[in-house]
Amino acid sequence: MEPIDRNLCTGCFACADVCPKQAIRIVEAENGFRYPQIDPAKCVDCRLCETVCSYRTRFSPDSNLLRAYGLQHKSPEVLRYSSSGGAFTAISDVILRRGGWIVGSVMDGDHRVRHQITDRESERDRMRGSKYVQSDMEGIFRQIRTALSGDRPVLFVGTPCQAAAVKLYFGDCEKLYVADMLCHGVPSERMFRDHLQYLEQKTNKKCGQYYFRSKAFGWVPSSCEGVRFEGDSRISFPYAAQALSRLYYSGASLRPSCHRCQFRSLHRQSDLTLADFWGIEKVAPDKANTVGSSLLLINSQKGEELLRAAADSGAAELFELPVEKILFRIPLKPQREIKESAEFWRLYQEAGYEALIRRFAPPALSQKLRFALKKLVRRNHGLP
Ligand SMILES: Cc1cc2nc3c(=O)[nH]c(=O)nc-3n(C[C@H](O)[C@H](O)[C@H](O)COP(=O)(O)OP(=O)(O)OC[C@H]3O[C@@H](n4cnc5c(N)ncnc54)[C@H](O)[C@@H]3O)c2cc1C
Repeated sequence: MEPIDRNLCTGCFACADVCPKQAIRIVEAENGFRYPQIDPAKCVDCRLCETVCSYRTRFSPDSNLLRAYGLQHKSPEVLRYSSSGGAFTAISDVILRRGGWIVGSVMDGDHRVRHQITDRESERDRMRGSKYVQSDMEGIFRQIRTALSGDRPVLFVGTPCQAAAVKLYFGDCEKLYVADMLCHGVPSERMFRDHLQYLEQKTNKKCGQYYFRSKAFGWVPSSCEGVRFEGDSRISFPYAAQALSRLYYSGASLRPSCHRCQFRSLHRQSDLTLADFWGIEKVAPDKANTVGSSLLLINSQKGEELLRAAADSGAAELFELPVEKILFRIPLKPQREIKESAEFWRLYQEAGYEALIRRFAPPALSQKLRFALKKLVRRNHGLP
C-alpha cells in the first residue's frame, strides 16, 4: 500500500476492516486524530485497502440533486432531542418498522463517540443529536456486511466522507440506504476529551451526559453546549462548555482532510442528505418556527422512496421546496484552513487545550453577556 496521506485520510477505517490479514491498526497521531497504520510484516500487498479508500477515489462532481424538502417531526419529544426537525428519527422509524438495522453515531457513558448498529428503537434514540467530534467507525464495515448478508434493510447515517466510504465499500446494494448531512467538519476525539477535562477543572464537577446541541434556548444556529454534571438532575450551561464550539466555528480544530473535502458538492454519495434548515424564514416563511426543521436533499429514487414512506406514516410534516431556492444552503468548497493553522497544532501539542482557547477562542465580554442574558430568559428550563 502507498503511504497514507494524513492531510487527505478521512479516518473512515474501511481499510482496516477490509484487510484479510488484520495488518492495519488504528493509532492516534500527535494532532489527536486517528489514522491507519500498516504492519509491513503482516501486509501481503493485496491492495484491497486501496480499493475501499475514499480519498484515493475521485468522485463525480456532477449534481445528482433530484428534489428538496423541508420536514418537521410531529412529536415534541422527538424534536426536543433531535438537532433539527427530527428527519433522522422519521426515516429510521421506516427502516425499523421494516425489521431493518440502523447504523448511526452514539456517545457512550465514557464520552466516546462511535458508530454502532442496532435494530432496537431505544438504541436508535441514543443516536439522536449531532456530536461535533469525529465518530469512530472502526469495525463498523464488518458489522454492516454481516447485517447485509441477511434479508433486512440497513440505514447508514454519517458525515459525507463516512457515507462515501460506505458506498464505496458495499457498492450499489438494494438493501442499503445511505444518508449523509451537510457537514461543517469534525474535531478529534482527543480534543473533546481535553475539553471535558478543562470543563471539570473550571467547574470542579464531574461531567456526566454531554449535549452538543441543546435546544434549551430554542433552535438557534449558534450551538449551545450543555452538560449534566454527576449528581445533578438538571443540565447546566457553564460558559466554559461553549469553548469547544468557539474553536469549532473558528475552523481551526477540524481534521486536516476536512479542509480538502471532496464531498462538499452537489454530487452527494448518499441517497439523501440531512441538514439544519437555517434560513427557513426566507424560503418557506409560513413554516418558520423555534423548535427545529430539517432540510432534506434527495439524491436518488431510493432516498425519495424512504422519505415518502416516512411522510406517509403520518409521523412528520413534509413540504417540497423549489431546488433553486435552497442551493444557497449547500456548501461547494471545503472549509478554509486558517493561516495560523500550523501554530494552532503546535500550540495544542506543546501547551495543551486551555492555551488553545486563550489564543484562538478567547471569550469576548459581549458574548459572555449575551450568553448570561439568554440563560436568564430561557424558557425550556433544564431541557436538552
Ligand atoms: C459533525 C457534524 C457537522 C454538521 N454540520 C452541519 C452544517 O454545517 N450544516 C447543516 O445544515 N447541518 C450540519 N449537520 C447536520 C445537522 O446538525 C443534523 O445532524 C441534521 O440536520 C439532522 O438532524 P435531525 O434532527 O434529523 O437528526 P438527529 O436526530 O439530531 O440525528 C443526528 C444524526 O446524525 C448522526 N450523527 C451525530 N453525530 C455524528 C457524528 N459526529 N458523525 C457522524 N454522524 C453523526 C446520528 O447518527 C444521527 O443519525 C452536521 C452534523 C454533524 C454530526
